[in-house]
Amino acid sequence: MPLLGLCRIPIVQGRGNITIDIYFLDGHNMIAEQLYHTVGHELEHAHHAASGDYYEWVEQWGEAAAGYYSEYLAYKWNVDHLHIASYPGARRHYEGGVNYYAQKYLEARGAF
Ligand SMILES: [Zn+2]
Repeated sequence: MPLLGLCRIPIVQGRGNITIDIYFLDGHNMIAEQLYHTVGHELEHAHHAASGDYYEWVEQWGEAAAGYYSEYLAYKWNVDHLHIASYPGARRHYEGGVNYYAQKYLEARGAF
């Protein structure tokens, strides 16, 4: 992947800025569709924090399950937007993320 994204959220709700970082890796070609999906994915995490949902999940389920659930929803955002922008391997990558983080979330909740 030529791009990496990161969403930084304050540990305590409302105590600091929510930011997203997008890293462009040297020596890799980047296409607009990948930028679209990387920014959208990170903004989905930012929305979870800004809405307060993420902090409620942490309170209810703990940090691990909350993080996995946020990832599950962010990857689901990617899958739901593949009809707008896609590239080779995108569907496999994002559907893989949905399945992986759904599993991790359920494990963290003690469902298995
Ligand atoms: Zn993510």
